[in-house]
Amino acid sequence: MKENRPNTERYTLADLENWAKATDQVDPPIRLGVFGDPVAHSLSPQIQNAALRSGGIDAQYARFHIRANELRSALRFLRDLNFVGVNLTVPHKIAAFAQIDQSDESASQAGAVNTIRLRDKKLIGSNTDGEGFLRCIRSEFSVDVRDLRVIILGAGGGTGHAIAWQCAVENCERLVLVNRTHEKAEALAGRLRRFFTGPRVLGPAARLQAIAWEEAALRAQLADIDLIVNATPLGMNTSDPSPIPARLLAPHHMVFDAVYATSKTSLLRAANEAGSRGVNGLSMLLHQGALAFQIWFDREAPIDAMRQAL
Ligand code: NAP
Repeated sequence: MKENRPNTERYTLADLENWAKATDQVDPPIRLGVFGDPVAHSLSPQIQNAALRSGGIDAQYARFHIRANELRSALRFLRDLNFVGVNLTVPHKIAAFAQIDQSDESASQAGAVNTIRLRDKKLIGSNTDGEGFLRCIRSEFSVDVRDLRVIILGAGGGTGHAIAWQCAVENCERLVLVNRTHEKAEALAGRLRRFFTGPRVLGPAARLQAIAWEEAALRAQLADIDLIVNATPLGMNTSDPSPIPARLLAPHHMVFDAVYATSKTSLLRAANEAGSRGVNGLSMLLHQGALAFQIWFDREAPIDAMRQAL
């Protein structure tokens, strides 16, 4: 007889290849998960398993340690398994876009995928990060992104793309894109240009800009910025430096760190020091997760149960 074994482990590509054997004793069956590298930190299993239990769905959600060079094979195995879908996290969101069968508007616009649902062995990609970000900013800072001047650090990554597109679609007041590999920020700015043709902001600052990741360039922008977003993984390790030094922050800034870590990230400590309001990635995690659940099960997510699990 099968034991009712709650799953908290990490699976790998080798497990997906021999799925029946790897999960022989697991009950309820794993039919959802998150692919990432690293993935041990992910709190998605916590919120999604709470949602599954609360919804009376006989399935569980697991972590999969899938490296960048393993994504293609992992997605290929997934097609033949009885999965409802998966989430993708760092570093897979952009690479996955080229490896799915269909994408909805949210994924096509962002050019990045964080949620896949399986239908008839086809992988259909969506992106709930952008809308999750919007809901998070509204609930944590009581403001709408459309009224803000926003700078995104790490705009070239999967999360940065999704957040940038959402800011553009909302027609935020200003958008400044910063990325370690500057060309990616430039390329994204080129694709977003059409959203920023109207003169909404008074003053000389351009509505859309990609700037170099240099202190002088950042300093020049930050007087005309309300919301600072960290979409890099800096902060996932306790030893990581802040992506932006405290001396550049001012009390009028709202600081959103998409990273969620057990202790305060150095960016949020810097925000504290500067007297600015700082929020970590937990609220975005909750909202993007609730939207993913809705995509998988075509019903509203039990968000209170998910929130409680965090
Ligand atoms: P990704 O696609 O791998 O992108 C990483 C981005 O960060 C790229 O722009 C990269 O720049 C930049 N970067 C990486 N290391 C850096 C460093 N040492 N210094 C400066 N920039 C660096 O990753 P992702 O999936 O977007 O995830 C990014 C972070 O957001 C992760 O920490 C993830 O956990 C978090 N996240 C949180 C939520 C939430 O719900 N709270 C949702 C999604 C993601 P290059 O282009 O130069 O490589």
